[in-house]
Amino acid sequence: MNSFTKYFSDLFNGIHSLITGLKVTGSYFVRPKEIVTQQYPENRATLKMFERFKGELTMPHNNLNEHDCTACGICEMNCPNGSIEIISKFDVIDGKKKKVLDKYIYHLGMCTFCGLCVKTCPSDAIIFGQGFEHATFERTTLNKQLNKPGSVLKKEVKE
Ligand code: SF4
Ligand code: SF4
Repeated sequence: MNSFTKYFSDLFNGIHSLITGLKVTGSYFVRPKEIVTQQYPENRATLKMFERFKGELTMPHNNLNEHDCTACGICEMNCPNGSIEIISKFDVIDGKKKKVLDKYIYHLGMCTFCGLCVKTCPSDAIIFGQGFEHATFERTTLNKQLNKPGSVLKKEVKE
């Protein structure tokens, strides 16, 4: 392809991609009811993020203050930037010494929300919550303990 042909080929490709982009904008212009702009923060009370949204790592507990985390450390090993610290301890359960979770520390300020921890957890003990308002004056407030005080492992979860 000589430089003259290449010039016109690039020009037409550019115009084609411009028109493709404008088609999307134009379609919303003629259908204003479908505009999805959120009135944030006025709609804070009713705002619900979409299901896949990764707000922050959380550890669900049931109403008996039990969680599914066996303190295996797989999420900690898979986290690419050290945002998770599993602190375990040994408890005597049914006459046997067993490793249990003491503190699940999550450094939200370092998390890139890659999702590897959630994906690799064999017990589905952690999920991404919907919270996203993390602005703070103190970085230390971004270090969170995910297991609630006094919480224990669910009896039915295999270690
Ligand atoms: S989402 Fe990624 S970066 Fe954040 S804690 Fe999990 S593995 Fe680490
Ligand atoms: S959250 Fe899952 S992967 Fe991480 S320590 Fe607990 S059980 Fe293991």
